[in-house]
Amino acid sequence: LISLVAAGAMVASLAACSSDSGSGSGEGGGALIGVAMPTKSSERWIADGDAVKKALEDQGYRVDLQYAEDDIPTQVSQIENMITKGAEALIIASIDGTTLTNILADAADAEIPVIAYDRLLMDTENVDYYATFDNELVGNQQAWSLLNGLGLTELDGTPIEGAPTGPFNIELFAGSLDDNNAFFFFNGAMDVLQPFIDDGTLVVKSGQTTIEQAATLRWDGETAQSRMEDLLTANYSDGSSVNAVLSPYDGISRGIIGALTDAGYTVGEGWPTISGQDAEIDSVKAINNGEQYATIFKDTRELAKQAAGMAIAALNGDEVETNDDSTYNNNVKDVPSYLLEPVIVVKDNIQTALIDTGYWTEEEVNG
Ligand code: BGC
Repeated sequence: LISLVAAGAMVASLAACSSDSGSGSGEGGGALIGVAMPTKSSERWIADGDAVKKALEDQGYRVDLQYAEDDIPTQVSQIENMITKGAEALIIASIDGTTLTNILADAADAEIPVIAYDRLLMDTENVDYYATFDNELVGNQQAWSLLNGLGLTELDGTPIEGAPTGPFNIELFAGSLDDNNAFFFFNGAMDVLQPFIDDGTLVVKSGQTTIEQAATLRWDGETAQSRMEDLLTANYSDGSSVNAVLSPYDGISRGIIGALTDAGYTVGEGWPTISGQDAEIDSVKAINNGEQYATIFKDTRELAKQAAGMAIAALNGDEVETNDDSTYNNNVKDVPSYLLEPVIVVKDNIQTALIDTGYWTEEEVNG
């Protein structure tokens, strides 16, 4: 460890030297910031990585951006390399938020500030700040979108008068249990859905209502597809059908859609209401053609800007902007956080939420 830190310090001073010779421009003066992203298999992380890199480079910093393809040892060694190369701050979107404690201790020893990006770093005191969205609200919104698709509430959860009483069959999916966000999404959704389950409007026919039963390791679409196939075979072979599916992420929604299609469900004829998250382009198209009802749009450009600003302020010893100091406890401390607002997208507001804001072009959505 000592030699690693010493080597890191050495490279740091070399990096500082070379930047003095004028390679960097702007305030950053060419200092290096490490950005660790989980995987390129989901579009959002590619957009996040690109946007963070750009935000930092625009301020004159150099960026080491790495993707770990959802492999934990790869992410550990990428971060180790960043420290060795003299990174002066780290921005980390973890694969498994509990697995980085050793390397984060190394970062702390080298006095490198760490920003948790979107996913909280757990079980460590060595995370300085957290940039994310209001994840519980994301869960609420996912549930509201389902209730809206079923005609029970407005998109903000306001009850609709004279709404149908059901019962509607619903099945529940959650994200990866090694990602703290999965709990916020699922609990946020269940807070909204539970009263409707309690009064019999919604029926979870499989009886699988715990997050452990609903979880999807690594948010994997194929894993979700095979669980959905099993749920349909075991619970809906009696002529009944599923009317709504809570999905926490667009990639999982696409797996669910695959299972429904294979089982003979047809859009427009009793096709269920399905939620999502991330406004991935294939899912925006699926919303347009009626396969998916809604997604939750989290503007990665805004998150990137926020996280980059936090890293720069932290490494310069400036005050770091936060708007929440108590929601996100990582089992060791409350991590000062900045929460951004997520937005529900259904067919009607694809234009205003995604195209007018430049997140996707008209061509990408309709092409
Ligand atoms: C993110 C979601 C994303 C999921 C799967 C979560 O940590 O907050 O936006 O859908 O990971 O990548």
